[in-house]
Amino acid sequence: MLNKTKQHQLDSSWYLSKMWRKVRMLVLIRDSNTCKDCGVVSTHNMHVDHILPRKTHPQLSYALSNLQTLCASCHTRKATSLARGPNYKERPKTGLDGFPEGGDW
Ligand SMILES: [Zn+2]
Repeated sequence: MLNKTKQHQLDSSWYLSKMWRKVRMLVLIRDSNTCKDCGVVSTHNMHVDHILPRKTHPQLSYALSNLQTLCASCHTRKATSLARGPNYKERPKTGLDGFPEGGDW
């Protein structure tokens, strides 16, 4: 059985590696600190996201084509929906009247 704490430690040390920090910086510069999802521009609190997760595609860990800049909230949202599985659909936005916008719900 996998020791979760150990796994977490290994993972956070990967994110502190020199190589990752260098690649991460390149992605932020390439994307001009712009969130690829909502378009917010910031030099603080921006995350560099693996489009295909490192867990399933470790060979793409440093591939610039597999990396994108996301703001903290978009990154959290992506992580949450990945955790829920590929078939999870976000609930449609709720209109002013309290009912979902659009018809397929
Ligand atoms: Zn965003």
